[in-house]
Amino acid sequence: MYNETMYGLGSHRSVIRDLFEFGKKRAAEVGADKVYDFSLGNPNVPAPDGVKAAAEKLLAMPDNTALHGYTSAQGDANVRKAVADNINARFSAGVTPDLIYMTCGAAASLTVTLNALCEDGDEFILLAPYFPEYAVFVKAAGGTPVVVPFDEKTFAPDLTALKNAVTPHTKGIIVNSPNNPSGTVYTRETIERIAAILREKSAENGTHIVLIADEPYRELVYDDIEVPYLMNLYPDTAVCYSWSKSLSLPGERIGYIALSPRMYEVNGVYAAVCGAGRAQGYVCAPAMFQYIAAACVNEKPDIEAYRRNRDLIYSSLTEMGYDCVRPDGAFYLFVRSLEPDAGAFSDRAKNYGLLIVPGDSFGAPGYVRISYCVSHDMIARSLPAFRALIDSYKK
Ligand code: PLP
Repeated sequence: MYNETMYGLGSHRSVIRDLFEFGKKRAAEVGADKVYDFSLGNPNVPAPDGVKAAAEKLLAMPDNTALHGYTSAQGDANVRKAVADNINARFSAGVTPDLIYMTCGAAASLTVTLNALCEDGDEFILLAPYFPEYAVFVKAAGGTPVVVPFDEKTFAPDLTALKNAVTPHTKGIIVNSPNNPSGTVYTRETIERIAAILREKSAENGTHIVLIADEPYRELVYDDIEVPYLMNLYPDTAVCYSWSKSLSLPGERIGYIALSPRMYEVNGVYAAVCGAGRAQGYVCAPAMFQYIAAACVNEKPDIEAYRRNRDLIYSSLTEMGYDCVRPDGAFYLFVRSLEPDAGAFSDRAKNYGLLIVPGDSFGAPGYVRISYCVSHDMIARSLPAFRALIDSYKK
């Protein structure tokens, strides 16, 4: 009657969603002030005022048929031009509007790109720790995920392992920096070394490995850290972007794919992107939010709010004795579990009202993820619970 794989995906919620649901139930039982929910990556910073202004201006138009109507499948032409102009102004990447494809958020950017590329037997490399949905998306596109481990001191990928993981079947690699769940921003040197490995292996195997740059956190970096624009360092690059995190619009489902003009057979790949969007039934990205995004390409997130949260949670937890790497971007802190089984650690944390996500599904057992896109006040109130949790391991 139904597809077993889809049944499995639909009936077993992700660990993150499970924790979130548990938190709501627990808040009803013991009071919301005693539950510290660090499970979801749902931005708590309001969307910039420019978003509201753009929406009001659009809604005030006397004729709203275009506003609520279909756009071209690949996105409105003026919107794609605004996106390409913005990319070129910031990164001098030489992108043209006909290489931009508007999507329903980064998740759709990824599924469309993967479906556009994947053929029978293809493998896609995931650099741990990684966003758990990557494995779901790769398998759904018919590919095989291949996981590469990381350096535990920096959370950068283990480049020797990467070299060994590439085979003649490798079609692509997903690079996510700033990273969910570690908050790491890969340095230019790391990216250059990844690019060199991909070039060397592509030449050796007669392939063209596509670098899929998943960038919903590009704008969320602290301390003027550089986030290199990957298509400038490696020609076969597809950027998967969304405004979900940068403009706090995750529920509006708006993003894009940008293909490098230097990509091998780029026009064919773009046609396959359009085909994959069609086959997946996307029709077009939400029209109104395409126009809003185009009007807001230069809007900036309130990074200060996240920085205050980062500084408080990182300094407090390390001072208590937790082991974590200081995040340079996104809004996650990845902490070493206080016992080998991060699931058991996360369960124990629940007794203190702390909802933190075990790292196993991120390809990083032995760690937990703390999402600090929450109120500063909640972080401050949660600190005694973190203290009690670590003390419970000393008894
Ligand atoms: N990629 C990463 C690394 C993410 O963390 C997320 C969402 O949390 C996504 C993609 C999906 O983003 P969107 O909501 O824009 O689909």
